[in-house]
Amino acid sequence: MPYDFRSDTVTKPTEAMYRAMSVAELGDDVLGDDPTVKRLEEHCAEMLDKEAALFVPSGTMANLLAVFLHCRPGDELLCEDNSHVYIYEQGGYAQINSVCVRPLPGRRGIFDAKTLVGAIHEPNLHFPNPKSVFLENTHNRGGGSIWPFETLEDVCRAARQRGLTLHLDGARLLNAVVATGRVVREWTHPFDTVSLCFSKGLGAPVGSVLAGPVDWIHLARRRRKVLGGGMRQSGILAAAALHALDHHVERLAEDHRNAQMLAARIREMPQDLIRLKYDATDTNMVFFEIAKPQGTAQRFCEELARHGVLMLPTGPTTVRAVTHLNVDATAVEKAAEAIADALGLKVP
Ligand SMILES: *Cc1c(COP(=O)(O)O)cnc(C)c1O
Repeated sequence: MPYDFRSDTVTKPTEAMYRAMSVAELGDDVLGDDPTVKRLEEHCAEMLDKEAALFVPSGTMANLLAVFLHCRPGDELLCEDNSHVYIYEQGGYAQINSVCVRPLPGRRGIFDAKTLVGAIHEPNLHFPNPKSVFLENTHNRGGGSIWPFETLEDVCRAARQRGLTLHLDGARLLNAVVATGRVVREWTHPFDTVSLCFSKGLGAPVGSVLAGPVDWIHLARRRRKVLGGGMRQSGILAAAALHALDHHVERLAEDHRNAQMLAARIREMPQDLIRLKYDATDTNMVFFEIAKPQGTAQRFCEELARHGVLMLPTGPTTVRAVTHLNVDATAVEKAAEAIADALGLKVP
């Protein structure tokens, strides 16, 4: 088995998670009587401090439903220009919801209130209607970066003052919670809706949740059905998510330590061959750049694979490594050795 650092989505259920799934009480969730799904939705609504929540198959669907709830066709959604909803979801906001996006420049996924305010159009016949702001915390392409809390509050306040609604793409929100010690509801309070993935660092096989006002979640439930996201005995998946929330949250700190270790090893390597893309490793992601003569990120990852280590090329010379519950400190050591080998360095 290779050491798989491509993503925190690759985790397999633990024995205990399989057990929880196998004893879950099931019903038909489309008919509204799967007790385990209901329990998960209630638990998440409370945890995220919103009135209601909806279990959905993926984070992409959670964001797609959020766009639907916040914007009408022709409205404009403002988000950072490297955000997941803008880059990695096939432009579902336009394809499915007929919504425009105004991408804002950021640093590691983060922008300030001034940038937001400067991008909001005055009402004018020529412009789409600025309607909603989507933030991402932690930020995936920003390298698992955490929003500075005051910046996040400022941006949300500025959005509110101008009548914009707010969605938090919190696919990895709990990584930010564990890394900062700041509780979930502080992070979610400024937002109308919040999404969270169970299939990332939390280690469940499938699923995300979207939380928000009860009437909005009612609309989202209808919309989920027409998108083909109505699931039947989905309690089997909800049980995995509940197990993950009970057992896999505090341990995210371990992933963060392992990411720090990997970053430290890369920092020790010759900077003309390899260098970290970002100074700080906030959570469970490490991005690094391969110097051109070493070839492309694609070729470098193929070489790593021959050493039994999988990582993900995310640009011509950029590689991403993500830590999670199936890669421990030993795996990090193997990864560092594989990188050194692939660079032709002597391993000390
Ligand atoms: C993974 C991810 C999503 C989408 O989740 P899928 O379950 O892969 O569709 C959304 N937002 C962010 C920030 C993510 O990292």
